[in-house]
Amino acid sequence: MRDLIVVGGGPAGLAVALGAARAGREVLVFEQRAGEIDKACAEGLMPGAVRALAALGVDPPGHDFHGISYQGGATVVRAEFRSGPGRGVRRTALHSALREAVDAAGITVRQQRITEIGQDRDQVTVGGERARYLVGADGLHSTVRSAAGFVTVPVRRQRWGQRRHYALAPESDFVEVTWAERSEAYITPIGPELVCLALLSGTRGSFDQQLSAFPELAARMARGEPASSVRGATSMRQRVRSQVRGRVLLVGDAAGYIDPLTGEGIAMSLAGARELVDCVVRDRPQDYERAWQRVSRPSRLITSGLLWARRQPGVGQAVVPLAARLPRVFTAAVNTLAG
Ligand SMILES: Cc1cc2nc3c(=O)[nH]c(=O)nc-3n(C[C@H](O)[C@H](O)[C@H](O)COP(=O)(O)OP(=O)(O)OC[C@H]3O[C@@H](n4cnc5c(N)ncnc54)[C@H](O)[C@@H]3O)c2cc1C
Repeated sequence: MRDLIVVGGGPAGLAVALGAARAGREVLVFEQRAGEIDKACAEGLMPGAVRALAALGVDPPGHDFHGISYQGGATVVRAEFRSGPGRGVRRTALHSALREAVDAAGITVRQQRITEIGQDRDQVTVGGERARYLVGADGLHSTVRSAAGFVTVPVRRQRWGQRRHYALAPESDFVEVTWAERSEAYITPIGPELVCLALLSGTRGSFDQQLSAFPELAARMARGEPASSVRGATSMRQRVRSQVRGRVLLVGDAAGYIDPLTGEGIAMSLAGARELVDCVVRDRPQDYERAWQRVSRPSRLITSGLLWARRQPGVGQAVVPLAARLPRVFTAAVNTLAG
């Protein structure tokens, strides 16, 4: 019987597969999509994510960035990373780099959508295969999570995210975050002639409607050609009561997600993957829940706090001026998230 079946071949699932294979475990991955996988994402890998990938032997091509800047009206505040650079990486390039490492490790990735799972005291059954453990790494709207009976908490307020690439030289070696009244725009440098523009908002609207809240950015983007079609994500917030149920463990967005506002989803997915592999290798799945809580706590606290501020009338607009008045606090928060 295999040691591990992973459902989902995104960053979290492939990182679990690589880590487990390195620890000598036999792994099978089910991924529903074929080819290079793209996704709505601002595509900024925090320094912690770059290091976690390097530890797995994965070095995706991209454009290094050295911190985060916040802009609101005429106010700009910058926080530099202390732990080395982050990297802007196309999701397709990240997927290819991870897949290359997975293939080189001899791990089988089967293209199949999983709709049902079974588990008893000794094993799990998925897609006609058996294993000792099942990992749900199948993203925000996880099938494994619902099929295994994990409890989720309904979320009242959702936000929407969209992204598009532009053939433009980056103007900054920082991820540039601009705050408008109800939305934020993120510009991530991806290459010498490529940037990713992501828009997050608490109200629905097309990409162009959302972009109209940022007239300066719209004018800047109009100087370059769009280099991809628009991709979006909905219902980003997922509140999950627990991350382990018997022999089923959740990782990445499937384990719970708040918002891309602070940009460390991939770093959190990779940190969770590392903890999960450690628990499974020690045959202590019950330890994973606490480990996941520990590694994700700073990110959950900071992201929830910022989102809360975002929703308060008048307070959201004060975030950038406040960060400018308290640069040390801003730099400390950015570096906590940077990992
Ligand atoms: C708008 C937006 C901007 C973001 N910006 C950033 C950023 O700048 N930096 C950052 O670090 N993070 C960012 N994130 C978060 C980041 O994208 C996620 O945290 C990350 O993709 C989580 O990885 P994952 O492997 O858990 O899930 P995913 O990347 O979603 O991968 C899940 C995989 O599971 C597969 N799958 C799903 N269901 C099944 C099934 N039933 N059977 C088989 N396969 C299945 C899917 O095809 C997919 O390949 C952003 C997110 C959004 C929405």
